[in-house]
Amino acid sequence: MDEFELIRRYFVPLGLTGVSESVALGIGDDCALLDSQMGRQWTVSCDTLVCGRHFPLESDPFLLGQRALAVAVSDLAAMGADPVGFMLALTLPQADPDWLQPFARGLAQMARQCGLCLIGGDTTRGPLAMTLTVFGSTPVGKALRRDGAQIGDCLCIGEALGEAGVALALLDGRLHLSAEQSAYWLDRYWRPSPQLALGLLLRDKATAVIDVSDGLLADCEHIATASGVMLVVEQNQLTTQPPHGVDNRQMLEWQMSAGDDYVLAFTLPPRHLEEIRQAWPSMQVIGRVETGLGVRVIDAQGNRVEPAYKGYRHFMAE
Ligand code: ADP
Ligand code: MG
Repeated sequence: MDEFELIRRYFVPLGLTGVSESVALGIGDDCALLDSQMGRQWTVSCDTLVCGRHFPLESDPFLLGQRALAVAVSDLAAMGADPVGFMLALTLPQADPDWLQPFARGLAQMARQCGLCLIGGDTTRGPLAMTLTVFGSTPVGKALRRDGAQIGDCLCIGEALGEAGVALALLDGRLHLSAEQSAYWLDRYWRPSPQLALGLLLRDKATAVIDVSDGLLADCEHIATASGVMLVVEQNQLTTQPPHGVDNRQMLEWQMSAGDDYVLAFTLPPRHLEEIRQAWPSMQVIGRVETGLGVRVIDAQGNRVEPAYKGYRHFMAE
């Protein structure tokens, strides 16, 4: 199977899922063509997953396909964008149908769930890695950025955090649970659900939004820096129940510092709180925006807590 046969067999069919009216020409030519729509802006982002760094070699290809796209689409959710399409730059050690077929099925599954189609890519031989570029759009000036948080806003998350932290501990053998329990947490890791609908709800309401990919504190720090404010996180508002055998302290650390949850964190003026809570019941208020700079964690008594570890960074202390 050569490069073109591979593309035709496994990836051209994904050009047909979740068709967006903005895609004038998809896979097959030198470029894809996207129609620009009056009064709208493109939102574009790419994410790379490298074997051995972002996922183990023996990862289930179906789950990997799902997860790779979900991780990329989460950035569209964080901008409050409508999804349009994505590109796949895939580097493979060999053209193995037993790997490619489930991988393409996983991608297609997530593409349908999120409502976007494959519009092109690149296929090369080499160590397993993939870059997914996602395209979405928003009305001009309506994208949800990191730099608008205002003093007095509430700090919120779209859903409970920390589940991917449990899964990561299971994956690299720091934690052992029954098969049944493991299945629940691992599913949260392999099938993150990009909060696209929440992103749309937050348009014209949230003042700053980010998706939690590196850990809550690390990602809040990005909002704080971009907005020139201090985000105060009340640790007793982080309430995810740990699995049996994990203590609350450990669970708290995972909620604050483990990456990979792909839940939105955002700042919201209090006047919008009730409306968003009604429309999105899993939302949690976990703190507030104050004058100052950076991120501060406080306990139930309002005392400052010094968290041990903030989040993941490539090239940290190298
Ligand atoms: P070119 O040589 O013009 O860059 P290619 O020969 O690499 O184009 O690819 C042919 C067509 O197949 C292009 O439309 C490209 O976008 C698409 N394509 C290549 N690899 C992939 C892939 N992994 N997924 C989806 N489309 C792909
Ligand atoms: Mg070309």
